[in-house]
Amino acid sequence: MPRSGNETTCLFGPVRSRRLGHSLGIDLLKFKTCTLDCAFCECGRTTQLTDTRQVFIPTEKVLQELDNFFVTQDAPEVLTFSGGGEPTLAKNLGALIRQIKRRYPSYKLCLLTNSTLLPNPQVRAEILPVDIIIPSLNAVSPKTFNQINRPLDGLTPAPIMDGLLELKKNYTGQLLLEIFIVPGVNDGEAELAKLRDFAAQLQPDGIQLNSLDRRGAEAWVQPVSAENMQKIKEIFKDFNTNYYLKR
Ligand code: SF4
Repeated sequence: MPRSGNETTCLFGPVRSRRLGHSLGIDLLKFKTCTLDCAFCECGRTTQLTDTRQVFIPTEKVLQELDNFFVTQDAPEVLTFSGGGEPTLAKNLGALIRQIKRRYPSYKLCLLTNSTLLPNPQVRAEILPVDIIIPSLNAVSPKTFNQINRPLDGLTPAPIMDGLLELKKNYTGQLLLEIFIVPGVNDGEAELAKLRDFAAQLQPDGIQLNSLDRRGAEAWVQPVSAENMQKIKEIFKDFNTNYYLKR
């Protein structure tokens, strides 16, 4: 659910999401702040590559916008933390999760995260009340991870995978592992086998295989064909696996 970066509101949508249904997006970041600069990012290049957590939008402003939204608009099925960057970089994410749960207990909360801050126990604790977490992991090999995700210096897959496993120990909501497939980079048998082996350890509630839908940050990133995606799905046949092709 990419944004252009010109918005003055932190809410976007509701949109009919391919994966989540009728979803209202909550973007807590200053566009575009992320720990990664993914080659496939449909928001474009990362301008603030950082792992420093900070408050970008005051908690009260977000809550006020939600209050205003619910006065005039139809109820969405889910409220989703996502947008132009990595939501866990927002230092007030945990406070917002608690407050939204208190004010709007009937809504499901979802978090899309690139998983890079999950090694941080504080971040893991903050996100436990979220109903659906969709963490992404696109590569286990550092070389492939660097090619696709172009991380901040020092970020490597191993601690991220450990963070995911730690999260799973205490998390009682729905955990759906997202793997974004970039043809020619992480769609080889060896990399996919490593991802499958990690998924066997993690035991997510489902796997979402994703592919380019709109133009990515780099023109060389192409969508996956239906035929290849079906083959990749076979590799993850022991899991509850869905895939999403270019519309
Ligand atoms: S993690 Fe998400 S927001 Fe950040 S660069 Fe990658 S795709 Fe874009």
